[in-house]
Amino acid sequence: MGKGQILNQPRLLTEVESKQLLERAGIPVTKTKLARSKKEAISVSKEMGFPVVLKIISPDVVHKSDSGGVKLGLANGAQVGRAYSEIMSSVRQKHPQAAVQGVSVQPMASAGMEVIVGMSKDPQFGPVLMFGLGGVLVEVLKDVSFRIVPVTKRDASEMIREIKGYPLLQGYRGQEAVDVASLEGLIVRVSEFIEQNPQIEELDLNPVFAYRDKAVAVDARIVLEA
Ligand code: ADP
Ligand code: MG
Repeated sequence: MGKGQILNQPRLLTEVESKQLLERAGIPVTKTKLARSKKEAISVSKEMGFPVVLKIISPDVVHKSDSGGVKLGLANGAQVGRAYSEIMSSVRQKHPQAAVQGVSVQPMASAGMEVIVGMSKDPQFGPVLMFGLGGVLVEVLKDVSFRIVPVTKRDASEMIREIKGYPLLQGYRGQEAVDVASLEGLIVRVSEFIEQNPQIEELDLNPVFAYRDKAVAVDARIVLEA
């Protein structure tokens, strides 16, 4: 390799960049804006309406909450200001080298059932979509399903129904059933988005909040290939 050659590294898009691309592709995401200073974070939250969520935006910080980079349920400007300072000091401590763009500001979504939609590339099969229930069910129990892209509506429907946790989506102990058709639609749109953008190496919508009438991604991460 020549001396001046730049290494081609996979590029991690930030939450803000990822959500912009997804929104353009018709995939429902929470409205999210980048704020580059504390002052801007406060003014953006006032425009958006409280409560809001603040998250660190840096291409060098992959796991935002592990770095103290996520503050939920902020009810007023003063809380937003304090959260901004806490996020910055925590991230500076954990990742002193990270290039920080600011924070994302978004409305605090009401509680929903957390699910995950992901894409990774298999050396044999190419892009493969994954579906699972969020949190412990995916991390500990590996209760997930996979389909090769392109994923049809029928595939999506099967993916959702074949996980062991499916009954949880149908409502239990007073919890409302979620709208499975919205989840199917979201999965099919993600599949189309992946087909149209082969340079995407990895995608994570973690979590998607599923409700009785819709499904919305509250976090997104896209990795472009080198
Ligand atoms: P990361 O995965 O990088 O740690 P997330 O953006 O997923 O950060 O945020 C961590 C958790 O905070 C999510 O799993 C979700 O439970 C919650 N959360 C994130 N964004 C919102 C939001 N807009 N409204 C409500 N809860 C949220
Ligand atoms: Mg996440």
